[in-house]
Amino acid sequence: MTEQIVVIPGDGIGQEVVPAAVRVLDEVGEFEFVEAEAGDQVKAETGEALPQETYDLVASADATLFGAAGETAADVILPLRKAVDSFVNVRPAKAYPGVDALRPETNLVFLRENTEGVYSGHENRLSDDLSTLTRVVTDSASRRLAEYACEFVEANENGSEEFTVAHKANVMRETDGRFRDAVVDVANERGVDTDEVLMDAFATHVCLDPTRFDVVVCPNLAGDVLSDLAAGLVGGLGLLPSANVGPERALFEPVHGTAPDIAGEGVANPAATLFSAAMLLEHLGENEAGENVRSAVEAVLEDGPRTPDLGGDASTEDVTSAVISRL
Ligand code: ATP
Ligand code: MG
Repeated sequence: MTEQIVVIPGDGIGQEVVPAAVRVLDEVGEFEFVEAEAGDQVKAETGEALPQETYDLVASADATLFGAAGETAADVILPLRKAVDSFVNVRPAKAYPGVDALRPETNLVFLRENTEGVYSGHENRLSDDLSTLTRVVTDSASRRLAEYACEFVEANENGSEEFTVAHKANVMRETDGRFRDAVVDVANERGVDTDEVLMDAFATHVCLDPTRFDVVVCPNLAGDVLSDLAAGLVGGLGLLPSANVGPERALFEPVHGTAPDIAGEGVANPAATLFSAAMLLEHLGENEAGENVRSAVEAVLEDGPRTPDLGGDASTEDVTSAVISRL
C-alpha cells in the first residue's frame, strides 16, 4: 500500500524547504503526497489559519511534514500537535563535519514533554497587579514520556542505553518531584539506567562538555529552552529537525521558523527539513531510506554545496540536487 504523507509548507521559507524535502522523499520511496494549507497566507485568504480540512487530514494521516507558520504559529502548531496526540517532542542536536560549531563534539537528543508543564495554558490575570500560571504535571504524561525514552534508548538510536532526566525537583518539589519520580520509576521497572541533573546545572555542563550527555528527558519548558541552547552549540537553526510523536501518528518539522529575512530568495538551507524527512521515514518503518537521506545530507554538509547561512553561496535548489545525487 502506498503510504500517505500530508505536506504543509505553510509560510516563508516553509514554501521553499518543504518542496525540497518532497523531491527527496519522492526519490527514496512510493508515497502519496497530500498537500494542505495552514498559516498566515491561508488566514489572509480565508480568515482561518488552520482550516478544518487540514486538521482532519493531519489527524488521520500516518505522518505529516510541516514547514513553518509566521504570526499564526501558535494557532497552527499547538492544535496540530493535539491532532496527532503528540506527547513527546524529539529534538536531536548534533554537530556535523564541515559545519562550524561552537562544540563540534555535540551529539544529543532531547525528549521533551509536549502536553503539560507551564505550557498547559492555565494562565490567569487576577488583578491589575497579579497574574498567575498553574503548572500541570501528571503521572500519566510523565510515565508515557518515560516509556518512550526507554524504548528510544533500548533501540539504541543515539548510541546510549541510558538517559538523563533534567529537572528542578529541589525547588519545585511537588511538580518536578512528581515528574522525576514517575520517569525514574518507569526506567527502574524496565531496567533502564538513568541519571539526573538539575536543569540549571545542565545548561552550564552542556556548554563546557556536551559529551557528558546523550539522551535528555525534560519537562516542556526546560526542553524548549535547553534544546535551543544546544542548537547554538552545533552551528545554527538551519540544521535542526524535530518530531512531534503520538501513539500512532507523528508530525515532523524543522526547528526553525519562517525566516522572513531570507524568504523568497531561494537560499534557505533545506537540511533541517531533510533531516526531519529522514525521521519521518523512520517513523513509517522505512529505516533504510531514512538512513540513506540522512547520510546524503551529511555528505553534502561536509563537501558542499552550502547555503549562505553555512558560509556558501549555493541555493536551496543546488543543495537539494546535490543531496539527490548522493542518495
Ligand atoms: P519566526 O517568527 O517564523 O520564527 P524568525 O524571524 O524568528 O521567524 P527563524 O526562522 O526562527 O526566524 O530564523 C531565525 C534566523 O535564522 C533568521 O535570521 C533566519 O534567516 C535564520 N534561519 C532560520 N532557518 C534557516 C534556514 N533553513 N536557512 C537559512 N537560515 C535560516
Ligand atoms: Mg523564530
